[in-house]
Amino acid sequence: MASMQVLQGLGVSEGVAIGRAICLETRNQEVYRFPLLDDQLEAEIDRFRSAAQEAQEEVQRLGRRVGHELGDELGGIFEAHSLMLSDPSLLGAIERRIQDEKVNAEWAVLETTADLRNRFASLDEEHFRERGEDLQDVGRHLLRALQGISHHDLSEIEGDVIVIADDLTPSDAVRLGRQGVVGFAIEVGGQTSHTAIIAHSLDIPLVAGLPGITRLAAQDDPVIVDGTTGSVILHPTADILERDRLRQTAQKASQRAWADSRELEAVTRDGVSIQLMANIDLSEELEDALRYGAQGVGLYRSEFLYIEQSPEVPDEEDHYEVYRRLLEKMAPSPVVIRTYDLGGRKLAREVMESREENPVLGLRGIRLTLARPRIFRTQLRGLLRAGRHGELWVLLPLVSTVDEVRSFRAFVATVMEELRSEGIPFNPQFQLGVMIEVPSAVMVADHLAREVDFFAIGTNDLIQYSLAVDRNNEHVADLYRPLHPALLRMIRRVIDEAEKAQIPVSVCGEMAADPRLASVLVGLGIRRLSLSPRRLPLVKEKIRAMDCSELARHLDLCSDLVSASDIERYLDRCGAL
Ligand code: PEP
Ligand code: MG
Repeated sequence: MASMQVLQGLGVSEGVAIGRAICLETRNQEVYRFPLLDDQLEAEIDRFRSAAQEAQEEVQRLGRRVGHELGDELGGIFEAHSLMLSDPSLLGAIERRIQDEKVNAEWAVLETTADLRNRFASLDEEHFRERGEDLQDVGRHLLRALQGISHHDLSEIEGDVIVIADDLTPSDAVRLGRQGVVGFAIEVGGQTSHTAIIAHSLDIPLVAGLPGITRLAAQDDPVIVDGTTGSVILHPTADILERDRLRQTAQKASQRAWADSRELEAVTRDGVSIQLMANIDLSEELEDALRYGAQGVGLYRSEFLYIEQSPEVPDEEDHYEVYRRLLEKMAPSPVVIRTYDLGGRKLAREVMESREENPVLGLRGIRLTLARPRIFRTQLRGLLRAGRHGELWVLLPLVSTVDEVRSFRAFVATVMEELRSEGIPFNPQFQLGVMIEVPSAVMVADHLAREVDFFAIGTNDLIQYSLAVDRNNEHVADLYRPLHPALLRMIRRVIDEAEKAQIPVSVCGEMAADPRLASVLVGLGIRRLSLSPRRLPLVKEKIRAMDCSELARHLDLCSDLVSASDIERYLDRCGAL
């Protein structure tokens, strides 16, 4: 029997999960050359043919999605790929290489596509260079199919499954969570990665930042994932299993007890009232928001509607129905619906097959939607129609310039005109706000405040972009410091500008979901917090125990301290947190 092994990572979605391991490699693997024996060649060619078939089906599926959503021109790229995947001259060349060089299919794909690309590149014409790029994509699809990393179907697995993976996209996490996975342990990732946020939304413990775990764990190993402490235990002893089962039961009981705090008001000891709203990513969280007494939805991440339905692309009715349900259930409280924040690490790469070197600084959020009006139009029609059923606030993500707000307004005007001419009822009135999550938005908050009705500070990205710390990178996770003086100054500045313009400002980043950090936000002057519904009771408890003016005084005294550590130490020493 293997001995127990304890690994320490970052606990990013709390709770204890106990189950059996499934190990997944999701990133492209290195391709090695394996010599084959004569009697293995036929099976290898068969394996290659099935992979080519699978790759072609995958490409056709992608093409349909992209064509439907982004237009035939982009969809046509996939048609070209699909043709290549059934082209006997390409497939035959790969098969011949397997046969002649007696090598594995992966190697033959890599070498053959590289050869052909070089030949195209030597022809000095744009058209041929583009075909060379297509070949590279086709090669990638073939390798993914050969390496079996395009799908993870867990429907045949019995019992509680813990997924151990090198990396997981947010859409992987949604899909696996919906298939009944009870815990995640992954090699990469940071505190506020979207995968962490999704695991939290699904109430599934996740530990990130565990380099090498996919090599240490084997299929079917017994595992405990503790997302509260950040530890992962492989082959736990019977005593440890018993201890963690008891902890699991205690956690579930305290979750049930939380619902009792529903009726309590979120008021500080010195009488400052705080509006606690819910962040909703997945449809199942709406019930939790109601159970824990959320005063409205402060952030609905609409891109997860896309991710939830993928590979189907939501149509206008899908948008309309989801928004209508949110608005009706929450009425008369406001529901802040953020327009698609796709791009970065959120799905768009899969949808668009875009080749951005640095997607987090690329076509993400409002930039992507303005650049692809077809995506936006469907969403906006759904939103405007749903606006008749409640208090709709519309929020734009990743705004970095006033121009984006103006472009949005112009675009909405055309969509309204369209609905009017079709005689479709909608509500032209809604509050329009922007996420403040890019340093440039902080610096022009005064200009933005004149253009919009509210601000929502997205601390997850504001920390990432202002401290230059990838929120998804475990190597710099210790530099991701919410109490960095730069961040506190930025938040103060945004609050000041919002106050001057007399518009509401909320915080909907993960800072609002951490009771200590939420109290700092309140001390700085924030009166509206939006967070994962299951964290509402904890944050409410903290608010009811704090003295706002005392903390505000301490924060003023901290304003000259030079680092996050100094600020933390000071606030801890004087018992302010
Ligand atoms: C944020 O950046 O703080 C935010 C709320 O948006 P998201 O986490 O979806 O990027
Ligand atoms: Mg953000």
